[in-house]
Amino acid sequence: MSADALLPLLKSTFGFDHFRGRQSDVVDRVMARERTLAVMPTGAGKSLTYQLPAVALDGCVVVVSPLIALMHDQLRGARAAGIRAASLTSVDADGAETRQRYRDGELDLLYVAPERATGEGFRALLEAKTPALFAIDEAHCVSEWGHDFRPDYRLLRPLLDAFPVVPRLALTATADKHTREDILFQLGIPDDGLILAGFDRPNIRYAIRPRVTAARQLVEFIAANPGPGIVYCPTRSGTERLAEQLAKATGRRVAAYHAGLDAEVRSRVQHDFVASEDGIVTATVAFGMGIDKPDVRFVAHAALPKSIESYYQETGRAGRDGDPAEAMMLWGADDFAKARMRLSELPEARVPGERVRLNALAALVETVECRRAQLLRHFGESPPGRCGNCDNCLDPAAQVDATVLAQKLLSAVYRTGQSYGAGHIEAVLTGRSDERIVGRGHDKLSVFGIVAGDEARLIKPLVRTLVAREALETTEHGGLMLGPSARAMMKGEAPVLIAEPPVKRTKREARGGA
Ligand code: ADP
Ligand code: ZN
Repeated sequence: MSADALLPLLKSTFGFDHFRGRQSDVVDRVMARERTLAVMPTGAGKSLTYQLPAVALDGCVVVVSPLIALMHDQLRGARAAGIRAASLTSVDADGAETRQRYRDGELDLLYVAPERATGEGFRALLEAKTPALFAIDEAHCVSEWGHDFRPDYRLLRPLLDAFPVVPRLALTATADKHTREDILFQLGIPDDGLILAGFDRPNIRYAIRPRVTAARQLVEFIAANPGPGIVYCPTRSGTERLAEQLAKATGRRVAAYHAGLDAEVRSRVQHDFVASEDGIVTATVAFGMGIDKPDVRFVAHAALPKSIESYYQETGRAGRDGDPAEAMMLWGADDFAKARMRLSELPEARVPGERVRLNALAALVETVECRRAQLLRHFGESPPGRCGNCDNCLDPAAQVDATVLAQKLLSAVYRTGQSYGAGHIEAVLTGRSDERIVGRGHDKLSVFGIVAGDEARLIKPLVRTLVAREALETTEHGGLMLGPSARAMMKGEAPVLIAEPPVKRTKREARGGA
């Protein structure tokens, strides 16, 4: 039975007239009993792709889902649609009754937590009555490449393999190419079983800028954005400090939100924000999950997000109503330095995956090409080269070939002993001798004064780029040292193109020339 044949059921059960995006392709495969991985962004309607088969198929659809809260939300939704649904988790008291209903064929849909699904008892239950379909939600949890690996998910494979005739449908909103391939492999889904869909959010305008003075840049940005918005900050104290600064400078209502606040305060902030037409929340990533506010007009990042996946998810909270919205990120070399530091604290198995993820983020912030194209390519799409609605498309920066300058810079870092900060290196390169330089004999080095005055403007942005690309690393004392990709760059094997930095305005000009 094809998806089209299920349209009447789609209408009568869910009240929808059409499938959305690639839902019908997924449902087609499920109904043909083919193994499938559906990668679709949050809100695309993944649950429908197994809930509709749950109604159409004889037998019960078993859904493995890792988050109990989410599961219970879905359960309510399914029951509201008249689907006979239940869940088996550590917090469900009626397990025996649910199992009996399953055995009696009285369930269309059974949600189960991974730790339950992989237990002996559960396999016995399925042996008593074969399920119609396995749906594995949040399937990226099965991959160490994914950002949320859960060992329990690895134990699912033997269960799936014990029922080879039962089709499998894996679902996730976040999977880069590596993770996707790994999910296919781990869950035994053929390569052509991948269905990838619709990550573009055309009404969101993306902009990514180097951070100079975060508060001032954010104030400017907010002044141009009167609607409600979220400013993500990496630290709890940062959210509070920024809330105060922004409130003072913009005269708008700004509340801080982070996991360290009382539950009462948090729910008030959240509630006020949802109700407001111009409220601003400065928040850690704790904010946003499960918030239903379609008219968020902007999402700003005061610092680098954790990954492209989180960036996409966080910026995706803007403009759900389809009206124009803005996403603006500020980043600095120190963000990358911190992120790389965190890498070194991870269990070894996770380092390669996290490193690739971080490099992808570096490529996004550094690119002089279309941001959207870069973002969508990361999610495996093949977008057109230019979107016309990001900073780089709207206001393309001239590119400068900084390959030779990069070699000079890396060489200066090396010759000065890999312990000085960007200011000192800049002084050496441009031949500005001061006491410290003379004292260390750095004015005698071959790299002293080898950069012409007008090229000096490129040094700071270049340091940022080199840190992002791992050609430079930052020591704990803020000094620069060579990173793993420095060698190739010094040999000229990796061309370095950077954006022409904007002409610096004086303070007077910035204030409006008065
Ligand atoms: P996901 O799991 O991909 O984040 P959900 O399954 O929660 O998305 O669906 C998001 C919303 O889209 C839900 O409110 C759902 O009712 C709605 N939806 C899903 N499919 C359709 C459709 N074919 N037509 C209209 N709305 C749909
Ligand atoms: Zn663009």
